[in-house]
Amino acid sequence: MVDEVLPKSFDDLIKDVHELGICGECGGCVSFCSAHEIKAIEMSESGPPRYYNKDNCLKCGICYLICPQTHVLDKELNERYDYKVSIGNWLKITSNQANSEEILKNATDGGAVTAILSYLLDRNLINGAIVSKKEGPFNRVPFFATTKEELIEAAGSHFDLSQGVVGLENYNTFIPTIAKLKKVVSSDMMSIAVVGTPCQIMSIRKMQELSILPAHIIKYTLGLFCNLNFSFSTEGRKELEEKFNFSFSEVEKMNIKEELILTLQNQKSIQIDFNELGGITRAACYACRDFSNVYADISFGGLGSQDGFTTTVIRTKIGEEIYNNALKEGYIKEPNEFNTSVKKSEMLAKVIGFGKRKYERYAKALKKRQ
Ligand SMILES: Cc1cc2nc3c(=O)[nH]c(=O)nc-3n(C[C@H](O)[C@H](O)[C@H](O)COP(=O)(O)OP(=O)(O)OC[C@H]3O[C@@H](n4cnc5c(N)ncnc54)[C@H](O)[C@@H]3O)c2cc1C
Ligand code: SF4
Ligand code: SF4
Ligand code: SF4
Repeated sequence: MVDEVLPKSFDDLIKDVHELGICGECGGCVSFCSAHEIKAIEMSESGPPRYYNKDNCLKCGICYLICPQTHVLDKELNERYDYKVSIGNWLKITSNQANSEEILKNATDGGAVTAILSYLLDRNLINGAIVSKKEGPFNRVPFFATTKEELIEAAGSHFDLSQGVVGLENYNTFIPTIAKLKKVVSSDMMSIAVVGTPCQIMSIRKMQELSILPAHIIKYTLGLFCNLNFSFSTEGRKELEEKFNFSFSEVEKMNIKEELILTLQNQKSIQIDFNELGGITRAACYACRDFSNVYADISFGGLGSQDGFTTTVIRTKIGEEIYNNALKEGYIKEPNEFNTSVKKSEMLAKVIGFGKRKYERYAKALKKRQ
């Protein structure tokens, strides 16, 4: 008799992810648990998920499969998205900018993400987009934007420090947007776009691969580059303030490109190398190997572009079609001076270089844990 091989379940997720300290607390396993209605697992107050009632667990393995920190579906995703080492599949790389002053004023870099989402909304190609919205001076929350005004409100990475730094210790640059997905569905016929970090887009692609509802309503995935994410504990923050001689109460904008860039209210800019950010880096991020969001339809970052422009990697046919239409219809522009073949090859080399370094960091962290 052949032994039956049971799918990995939440017990395995505890062993392979939580116990290694690499749970990203994205909430995906809890939101998409097959026993969600009768509640088998929940997010704990301290962060990672835990059993709510072990007897309710169906041992179906969905939580294990969709967790971005497990690599069970790597082969399938790499084949489907034509993965190439460290950069993924790419059809075009370019530097661009939104063709709207209002978007540019609010944007993190060139506002390309918000401009393309605006195009999708205007052309009724989506009912809305899952983005992340500012709430209070620092906090961001997952948000389903259904109007252009809401998209613009969600753009950018500015802080409102009029109330001081109270609450900064609860600020985390990682926003659990996947958990929002189930809550936005009002009809099976909806079409939505999702903006997310590589780990979030990976979870979405795993759900689509497994036909887990409601992943079918996600028609467009706009991925952000991501080297690390941060959690601003009081100690970690103090360490940085002392080392770099500034106060977080002066910070107006935070951006992540080749390093962490803090713009102060007096417009002075402080650049902090990723290696100096150990005190505020989320542990889960050291176990992550995707920098440029290899499974997205289009990926976006600041790395490799001039200030005020977005580096954009078009990866899939769907991505290519919406990008070209947004360009043709004037939602975005590609200034020639930043798009010469020399500039493009420099941009590409930077994205590949960061991808390689992130992979090496992951391999080193993995070795340490074994
Ligand atoms: C946490 C984080 C880490 C990043 N790391 C890097 C990096 O290492 N190198 C690099 O070159 N670029 C990085 N980026 C990408 C870069 O900061 C810009 O988001 C990107 O260049 C797009 O700029 P834009 O002006 O076109 O976007 P905008 O038009 O300003 O739109 C940005 C969109 O992203 C959404 N958003 C903001 N924060 C989050 C979040 N935490 N999770 C999900 N969605 C969010 C907003 O709601 C908005 O829809 C990172 C972004 C984030 C959020
Ligand atoms: S029911 Fe399935 S998805 Fe839910 S905890 Fe158990 S194994 Fe995971
Ligand atoms: S990373 Fe997300 S899906 Fe994986 S165990 Fe943690 S909360 Fe669950
Ligand atoms: S570094 Fe990886 S795990 Fe961390 S937020 Fe970015 S994509 Fe997610």
